[in-house]
Amino acid sequence: MESIRPQNRRILVIDDNESIRADFQKILAPVAQAAESLDSARNAFLGEPEPTQAPSAATNLNFELSCASQGQEGLQLARQALEQDEPFGVAFVDVRMPPGWDGIETIKHLWKEDARLQVVICTAYADYSFDEIIEELGSSDRLLILKKPFEPVEVRQLAGALCEKWNVARGEESRQALLLEAERETREYALSLAESNAALEEARQRAEAASQVKSQFLANMSHEVRTPMNAILGYLDLLFQPGVAPSKQLEYTAIIKSSGTHLLSLVNDILDISRVESCQLPTHYGEFSPALLAQEVVELARNDAVNKGLELKFECREGVPTMVQSDPVRMRQILLNLIGNAIKFTEQGEVRLLFESGPSEQEGMTDLIFSVLDSGIGILPEDQKRIFDLFTQVDESSTRASGGVGLGLSISSRLAQMLGGAIEVESTPGQGSTFRVNIPALVPEKRSLSTELAPKPEPSSPTPTALRGRVLLVEDVPVNQILIATILRKTGIEVELAENGKLACDKVETAIADGNPFELVLMDMQMPVMDGYEASKHLRTQGIDVPILALTAHAMATDREKCLEAGCTEYLTKPVDRRELLLLCARFLDEGPQAPLPADGEFKREPSSKPN
Ligand code: ADP
Repeated sequence: MESIRPQNRRILVIDDNESIRADFQKILAPVAQAAESLDSARNAFLGEPEPTQAPSAATNLNFELSCASQGQEGLQLARQALEQDEPFGVAFVDVRMPPGWDGIETIKHLWKEDARLQVVICTAYADYSFDEIIEELGSSDRLLILKKPFEPVEVRQLAGALCEKWNVARGEESRQALLLEAERETREYALSLAESNAALEEARQRAEAASQVKSQFLANMSHEVRTPMNAILGYLDLLFQPGVAPSKQLEYTAIIKSSGTHLLSLVNDILDISRVESCQLPTHYGEFSPALLAQEVVELARNDAVNKGLELKFECREGVPTMVQSDPVRMRQILLNLIGNAIKFTEQGEVRLLFESGPSEQEGMTDLIFSVLDSGIGILPEDQKRIFDLFTQVDESSTRASGGVGLGLSISSRLAQMLGGAIEVESTPGQGSTFRVNIPALVPEKRSLSTELAPKPEPSSPTPTALRGRVLLVEDVPVNQILIATILRKTGIEVELAENGKLACDKVETAIADGNPFELVLMDMQMPVMDGYEASKHLRTQGIDVPILALTAHAMATDREKCLEAGCTEYLTKPVDRRELLLLCARFLDEGPQAPLPADGEFKREPSSKPN
């Protein structure tokens, strides 16, 4: 630590006697060239004859001297010195100074201004006894009493010692201040260390919890995947047994198909969860009629309700907005989930969807309120919160009977949050449940209803059965070649195969050169030799604008963008849904005459395709 040692040799003299002030000047701040020696000053001061000895060696110990003739003037000088940050170390104050303050009064004022000032009170007459002085000013090490007449050397020694004392005290003060500052910094550092430690500990605990959730999630996932997988493999084994009766074959394949569908919906749910959590779920904001959307969801679920002998009702309250701006796709997904659950967990009675609206907390918005009410098994109060957690099912056995993996509500509530809303549940075990979704939406200015139907729901368009056109299927996996080509050929589409991107580019270019171009290319994106991305890019750089439909098992939002960036026109995920595939093909191909539907066994492999 750097020590600070101020060098204050500033002295204030307050005395009404001009010659005494001059004497102080001579004693404490003699000018080097001045003719008078210290001793002649002494003589002048004391009215004594000139001594004979030589000047003292201490003559060159100069002080900075300021003089005042009255107490008020002295106080003024002390104030100025403080303001300039050059305070006096010592003041010599005369006691009697008519007509102004006397010394005692002056000293009181001086100390009020500068408590560190050391004062030597100079007294010649018995104005005040020593005791009186001490009584007035208090006994302190800041005060010395000097009786006149005094020796110059006494004055000089006193001034020197007191200045030194002042300097030592200030040096000590600044060392103390530095120490205090260092201590404060150390304490702050210790505090910040403790805070960092706490934050680290919290982060460690969070990481541990996240890792536990992840492990739990993986354990659940593998369990959920394993169950339908076991069914698929087990029933496939049974199918391969010799002599299985045709009716059994049908039964087994139906089980295999439903297990496959279940697996697919599981994978889709997981993808939805991960997309919502990574904020990658594509949104489909647009204008639509929420009442029509709700009605349509009810119609989609009607079959399941009828099959269970349940009544399914839709009620739309007055005053709901005709049109809103929000995400109809996600809203439909939420309602389908809730109505699906209501039907699943209700054995008798009814399921009802009630749609109403109300003012929103969010400015300029209207709250769309959908309530799904059922007369089903209900949910115990202690379970009502946790059913929104991943993979949570209240009753494993009842859910097993009803299907599902406990992801529907987690996805729905995340989707509702994504749309700025929330889902709440009220339920009485044994009597039924109400799931209420509240979603704020923008209500656009009124227009006629006819042009504002909800975006056409895919399920209501019929699956195309007859199409016409030449399609190049680019796919390296033989099983997929067979499957997709069969689906296409059944509608009358002419299908050619290519096993990789390189062969596909050759075929597309040759077909154009021959004047018989393909009308559509179905492109697998992951293939040996040349993948679909490169092939699509190549075709586009050749100026070939044939529509390319990407088929890929990568189903993340970024995968779609990647395909479109490579030049693909549309994107479809695997496993390929027959209906979706044909609907997409129909966008690029003409309708055909009703195609002959060859039996599955009639499918002939292309010569270029790989052996199985
Ligand atoms: P899943 O339906 O696939 O099991 P969900 O996340 O949709 O998963 O639901 C979680 C659980 O919440 C269900 O397993 C069930 O126990 C309970 N649940 C959901 N909806 C209802 C309902 N309408 N009535 C009774 N229980 C319900």
